[in-house]
Amino acid sequence: MIAIIKAGTPQSQIDNLVHWLEHQGIKPYLSAGDYYTVLGLVGDTSKIDMDLLASLEIVQSVKRVTEPFKRVSRDFQPKDTVIDLAGTKIGGGSFCIIAGPCSVETHEQIIGVAKAVKAAGANILRGGAFKPRTSPYDFQGLGALGIEMLLEAKKETGLPIITEAMNINQLPLFEDVDIIQIGARNMQNFDLLKEVGKLRKPVLLKRGLCGTIKEWLMSAEYIMSEGNEQVILCERGIRTYETYTRNTLDLSAIPLLKNLTHLPVVVDPSHATGQARLVKPMSLAATAAGADGIMIEVHNDPPHALCDGAQSLTPEQFADVAARVRKIREVIA
Ligand code: PEP
Ligand code: MN
Repeated sequence: MIAIIKAGTPQSQIDNLVHWLEHQGIKPYLSAGDYYTVLGLVGDTSKIDMDLLASLEIVQSVKRVTEPFKRVSRDFQPKDTVIDLAGTKIGGGSFCIIAGPCSVETHEQIIGVAKAVKAAGANILRGGAFKPRTSPYDFQGLGALGIEMLLEAKKETGLPIITEAMNINQLPLFEDVDIIQIGARNMQNFDLLKEVGKLRKPVLLKRGLCGTIKEWLMSAEYIMSEGNEQVILCERGIRTYETYTRNTLDLSAIPLLKNLTHLPVVVDPSHATGQARLVKPMSLAATAAGADGIMIEVHNDPPHALCDGAQSLTPEQFADVAARVRKIREVIA
């Protein structure tokens, strides 16, 4: 971090600032020019309140040189993080396909979809038991019963399962769940992030509706700072002024993140677009851009789905997407 001190600042005031920074464990290196004095701050600057520093009367501007996130950074860990679910790997060159309904509805539905997506090449089964819905009058998910049904589907098919936790109180129900999903609306629910950080279980962290990449990585840092190193990032589109699509899929986030962090990056083209017919092209594009996996909503009967039917693929459509995605992987390998 670099702080530029205003011209004509008395030395005594610069000394005061230097002492204040040293008190916070920072080593300030002074470089006095004819017009400005530049302070180079070395040490763990993540604890420094940049806005507070910039607001000081004697400070002209402040610039971060290193990123505020540490554990998620490639500088901290150059090697890709690989999540291993009893042989099913995510990251480090292993591609994963997560598929299943938006929400678990019935025993027959989840078992049927699980078998179909497995046959088409999915490695992980998704299904919401606790659903964050825009309207309180919409289907809210089956809750604990939904998790039980997912566990039965896991038993039948051998597929590991992922499902969303919306708050801390629900976490005891997730003991046998393989990956805990933190939804877009909870990307900055810091209490929840800290709590899943205490677990030793993979967490898939979705990008918030209006989350910048830096904010998203800082949320991943919250989880990792509690000791949980198994974090997967999921790009699911961000809110823009465009209304034809549900959200705008930020494909550039994939190569950008692969550079900034060692964590696996997967893409959810279903929530990103909101339209079933856009899921295939966006799945192919995300794969070509270097994603470590994709997450697709699949329903046995999309027109009658209790949630997100318009963006859900039939098992047949999903099988086609999965086959094409594998072809793209072969080309870019
Ligand atoms: C989901 O994947 O079920 C979901 C609700 O997605 P998001 O949090 O990205 O809206
Ligand atoms: Mn959904």
